[in-house]
Amino acid sequence: MVSFDVASLYTNVPLTETIDIILKHLYDGHAKPPTISREDMKELLDLATKKSHFLFNGQLYDQIDGVSMGSPRQLNLVYTPTTPISAPSPTTDTVVLRVPYFGQLSQVYAKRIISVTNKSYPLKHIRLVYDVQERIQSGFTLKDQIPDPMQAGVVYEATCPQCEVHYIGKTFRHFKTRVHEHLNYQKQDVCFKKIEKSKHTVKRPRSIIKTPIERKGPITRSQTGKLPTRTIQTTQEDIGKLVKNPEILEKRIRQQTPKTAIAKHYDTTGHIFSNNDFAIRLKERSEIGNKKVARLIHCDAKTVRYWRTRWKETKDLSEKTQSGQPRSTTAAEDEMILNELEENENPTSVTITRDFKIKTVEISSRTVQRRL
Ligand SMILES: [Zn+2]
Repeated sequence: MVSFDVASLYTNVPLTETIDIILKHLYDGHAKPPTISREDMKELLDLATKKSHFLFNGQLYDQIDGVSMGSPRQLNLVYTPTTPISAPSPTTDTVVLRVPYFGQLSQVYAKRIISVTNKSYPLKHIRLVYDVQERIQSGFTLKDQIPDPMQAGVVYEATCPQCEVHYIGKTFRHFKTRVHEHLNYQKQDVCFKKIEKSKHTVKRPRSIIKTPIERKGPITRSQTGKLPTRTIQTTQEDIGKLVKNPEILEKRIRQQTPKTAIAKHYDTTGHIFSNNDFAIRLKERSEIGNKKVARLIHCDAKTVRYWRTRWKETKDLSEKTQSGQPRSTTAAEDEMILNELEENENPTSVTITRDFKIKTVEISSRTVQRRL
């Protein structure tokens, strides 16, 4: 067995090689390489990683090897403003301007903008926000994907291989655990039928049955407070009794009533499901923030917050003052659209509608467009 010290793994990242890899990733085989030249990028990366310093005990130190752990060192790669800076509108008093941050230059630029806007709009209050858009981090996936069977908190679909009946279920446990539960009944049943067919007598070994029994004398109770168990050995005679009494045997081998819908389907039709007939339809994701939703659907974060609070409090997303055409989606459907947004990083009205068709909810893509 080999074990690795994770603490030392981080600081031992070979910087030169890593920078070479980053450069290769950015410039070679990329349809659209960054606008700054390769040499400049290399120098920037060197600056940000190799030529760094830190403060410890009031003393400044130069870092000569590795990268300090947990440092929020992020490089501004390319600045691409998502929305063009708009001129202040006459209806708002405070105007927020986003300025790309490039150090001293940005500060000079910001001051100039403020002085210019102050002259044109003396009544407006200008607020400046320095903005970093693309971070190195965004180009890398930092976590390994969890394999499907180990996903927890999923909505899954089972399709009968023989009659195209669909079953939709939800589990908070691991996907494979739930699938195993679904298939357990039919597996045991198939097994039992095989035994019946082969007409083999089941020969039980001398088994040991554990039963809790009372004991004389003082009992030292274990931490669980249960009575201690004593093992008794079953004789051949006991087993003979068991085999002769078909009811006991039946109970022992045959399981009780099928519990899951898939087991019931198997019970009534005999259709056998396999692991491949199960598929994950929705994966649980942590809730995305208002800002992210706002960016996705191109509206204000305040608006998203408003609707989210409305949903939490009233479960109703209909507009209070009805104007224009009446809504064609119910509150529940709106919630589904929101869920879809959380699932889909970059949704369009068409993909959402397509996904809804799969879930047999009829909403036109125009409706989705209006909701977005
Ligand atoms: Zn079937």
